[in-house]
Amino acid sequence: MFKHKTVTFYLYILIHILGITALFIIPFHWKYVALFGINYFFGMFFITAGYHRYFSHRSYKLDRIPQFIMAWMTMASAQKGILWWAANHRDHHIHSDEPEDLHSPVMRGFWYSHMGWIFDPATAGYNPKKIQDFGKYPELRFLDKYHWIPTTFFAILIFAIGGVGAFVWGYLLTLMCLYQASYCVNSLAHVYGTRRFETSDHSRNNVFLAIITQGEGWHNNHHHCKSSVRQGYKWWEIDMTFYLLTMLSWVGIVKDMRPFRAENTKGVEVEAKVQPLAASAAPKEVFASEMVG
Ligand SMILES: [Zn+2]
Ligand SMILES: [Zn+2]
Repeated sequence: MFKHKTVTFYLYILIHILGITALFIIPFHWKYVALFGINYFFGMFFITAGYHRYFSHRSYKLDRIPQFIMAWMTMASAQKGILWWAANHRDHHIHSDEPEDLHSPVMRGFWYSHMGWIFDPATAGYNPKKIQDFGKYPELRFLDKYHWIPTTFFAILIFAIGGVGAFVWGYLLTLMCLYQASYCVNSLAHVYGTRRFETSDHSRNNVFLAIITQGEGWHNNHHHCKSSVRQGYKWWEIDMTFYLLTMLSWVGIVKDMRPFRAENTKGVEVEAKVQPLAASAAPKEVFASEMVG
């Protein structure tokens, strides 16, 4: 375990160093910037739609093959396995900003919550009982165990098609920026921003984070209603992930998108009730992600 964490740590550092240094070595070309933009856009979409809104919170449904594709595409961004990610994230919602929270800036400081926790041997594993709903699929357990496969495949593909320049801009630099933007949700989104809902944690809504993370910056909204497929609450709260998932629902890939429930059983005050943008009805069943926190 220690060895694995050490390897992960050095790989992570290497991606950052190579990503930044290469900017000064690889001759600049706008096509690399375009590649970076495209890969960042879709990389972030799969992080938020996959790791977070699907595998952690089951805020919509997928059939088994699209589910596998979602897992594969999600793990191209190299944030470890979907089961590890989702199980630990469900814990974040249960113990948010309490001592047991794996990455609370309030309890453990900014840098630990931002990225230090990932290299802490204490966070290497996960409790399979927290993710039984997805852990029951052998193909997902396989992908989770060999989580380096999708990202390695993606790296080789980029290199094979575009060479060193494409690899540096479209993989290394993209990955680095995706890491930092994602980690800001754990750190900054519990410190800087406004609070619409009086949740029991320190979650914040932050428009800058919402833009760079395709909607995840509406983190206070999300902590208030974690099962909702949309995290933007007002019409102007931009949530690119929700828009793309809505489009996928029009062609039948994404199903049963769960709406934002403004009312809350814990008696917190809310501004107003809202209607979901999508026409799909809320599923009647109680999901595992509801039960775990
Ligand atoms: Zn949070
Ligand atoms: Zn969440």
